[in-house]
Amino acid sequence: MKVNVAQLLRAEGASAHYDLQEEFPPFQFDGDDLVFESPVHVTLKVSNSGKELLASGRIQTQLRAHCSRCLEEMSYPLDLEYEDEWVSTEKATEDQLENALLFDKEQVELDERILEQIVLSLPMKFTCKPDCKGLCSHCGTNLNLGECSCSEDDIDPRLAALAKWHPAE
Ligand SMILES: [Zn+2]
Ligand SMILES: [Zn+2]
Repeated sequence: MKVNVAQLLRAEGASAHYDLQEEFPPFQFDGDDLVFESPVHVTLKVSNSGKELLASGRIQTQLRAHCSRCLEEMSYPLDLEYEDEWVSTEKATEDQLENALLFDKEQVELDERILEQIVLSLPMKFTCKPDCKGLCSHCGTNLNLGECSCSEDDIDPRLAALAKWHPAE
């Protein structure tokens, strides 16, 4: 995903709008392969402040992940605000060298930055819904789909011993 800023750089104070869309490859996150279910859509307004380009806009896409509780596939829509400073490598201050998005030759390559923003926004654990019941730890049944019989059979061992001890009628 590249933005050509040649024209913008020649007009201090000017701004331009960009509407970009691109397929991103899957990436690894917390042991899961996250797949993009839709292209990454980036809408931006970029202004030339004279010293740098100031970008602000949104990143929208949808990921396919796995619920950490029930392990089912789930869609995870993303709609992020994106604010950034773009500066040409030769004009960058020390601070900008570390924090801004650097470009050469009037082309800003956005992919890495966009992916970084996406990764930073992801939750520690994905859950398909807030009240996902997860899997039974005994038989692995997905408890969102129905109850298993474990809970009935699963008598506390101390009670089981007691039950045996009582003489049958
Ligand atoms: Zn779930
Ligand atoms: Zn079970």
